[in-house]
Amino acid sequence: MTTKTAIVIGGGIAGCCTAYALAQRGINVTLIDQHENIGLEASGNPCAMLYPRVSGNDALSTFALAAFLYSLDFYQSLPLPAAAFNACGMLQTGYNAREFARISKVAVILRENSALNIAAKLVNPIEASQIAGVSINHSALYFPQAGWVKPSVLLARLTQHPQISVLTSCRITALSNTGTLWQATDMQQNTHAADIVVIASANDAKHLPQCQHTSTQPVRGQITLLAASENSRALNTILCSDGYFSPPVDGAHSLGATFEAGQSDLSIRQADHQKNLDALNTLSSILLDDLESRILAGRASLRCVSADYFPILGQLIDANTVSQRPPRPNADRSSLPWLDGLYINTGHGSKGFTSAPWCAELLAQTICGETPNVNDALLGAMNPNRFLLKKLGLKRLAKMA
Ligand SMILES: Cc1cc2nc3c(=O)[nH]c(=O)nc-3n(C[C@H](O)[C@H](O)[C@H](O)COP(=O)(O)OP(=O)(O)OC[C@H]3O[C@@H](n4cnc5c(N)ncnc54)[C@H](O)[C@@H]3O)c2cc1C
Repeated sequence: MTTKTAIVIGGGIAGCCTAYALAQRGINVTLIDQHENIGLEASGNPCAMLYPRVSGNDALSTFALAAFLYSLDFYQSLPLPAAAFNACGMLQTGYNAREFARISKVAVILRENSALNIAAKLVNPIEASQIAGVSINHSALYFPQAGWVKPSVLLARLTQHPQISVLTSCRITALSNTGTLWQATDMQQNTHAADIVVIASANDAKHLPQCQHTSTQPVRGQITLLAASENSRALNTILCSDGYFSPPVDGAHSLGATFEAGQSDLSIRQADHQKNLDALNTLSSILLDDLESRILAGRASLRCVSADYFPILGQLIDANTVSQRPPRPNADRSSLPWLDGLYINTGHGSKGFTSAPWCAELLAQTICGETPNVNDALLGAMNPNRFLLKKLGLKRLAKMA
């Protein structure tokens, strides 16, 4: 069947990128969000950093690098106004022995894999200070391609597409299949129908029975916004330790973010501001002295983090049927009880603004019968049914795209 219509549930970066990738292929998309506007949950920070977190040659690092490069090209191609996207570079500091060892190892890996096209180099504290425009006490790994984007402008740009209709203040509570169409039922018991549905509702996806097996958890994070000072205005690049510190954007630095699993309250905590300021201290005590009394505001939201940190991406299977009648371990993937037309794009953790554009494109390629532009192992690592299949002892199928 050719897909003509789609419903995307969730107006964060995952949902907006998915809607855009489908709309670009001529599909009419209804993007539904429960709030009065899109981008009010995890994707609602004033500024999102774009850089990869790499630890070695492992699959997660490979994914992070590929997704990072894709996202930069994608944001450049939209295009976005200069005030909303800036490839200002990022310095990943070696602020202690463990981090210095990690960035040194990553620098070698990136140098030896020139095909990756990641421009990155190890710089000493003097070079780091020249690049940053402020004094840095540590050696650092410099990623000149990294940058930041303003989510509100980005999400508006993605959804202002002639083939996307945005429906807000509409909370989807159930999904059913009529045989030819998928039906999404909202809180008011209205139904919305389309050929396919993509669930991009982050942690809330697990309220839908079709997604309960996806193994994600909410992880609270708080950012601290600091009014730029005369000195800090000179900062040209993003600085990173465990967290990040942005150059001034509209007069404010974004400093973040805390990471607390098992916490879902969204109040702003003084203790979390302090954790962020402590992280700033590891980057530069001069910046800390200058800025610690200049807190403007904070914002807390919930990441959606999978058990193995890979996104949850692709077509869903019927969990009840597979649990009751599991196929043989050597069975073909076609023997699984696929839910035709039901897909998911969640689990973007701490890096949704670099991971979601690529994931959305790969998902749209899958949906439209194109060959996804990624190797099978990496696509298999994102298999949305992997946790369920592993539990059933079907490890080979769990790793398949
Ligand atoms: C403090 C903090 C700082 C971060 N900083 C960065 C950063 O600098 N760079 C970066 O790349 N990433 C960062 N992240 C991670 C990034 O924000 C997330 O990975 C990303 O926003 C996830 O996007 P999403 O679309 O999956 O989820 P969300 O943005 O949470 O979107 C889900 C949407 O689904 C909607 N929804 C949910 N349930 C329903 C329903 N039943 N019906 C209708 N709509 C529904 C919600 O209203 C919401 O709009 C940060 C995260 C936190 C918490």
